[in-house]
Amino acid sequence: MYRIEIDRSLCSGYGLCIDAAPELFELGSDGVAVARVDVTERAGALDAARACPMAAIAVAEERDRAA
Ligand code: SF4
Repeated sequence: MYRIEIDRSLCSGYGLCIDAAPELFELGSDGVAVARVDVTERAGALDAARACPMAAIAVAEERDRAA
């Protein structure tokens, strides 16, 4: 599982993360990217983080926690 965090103060709205993983990212009405989910199994989150020219996306691998 990957936890996605966007530093919205860094995002310049280029949309490359959305090109890389449209199921995980979208542009908000303010023109800044938002994550559609907080946690995903999709490795596309890593592709999007690499694609971001502002290094605004942090993706941390998370282990499933036992309840
Ligand atoms: S690629 Fe980075 S700068 Fe561009 S919209 Fe996504 S988070 Fe923002």
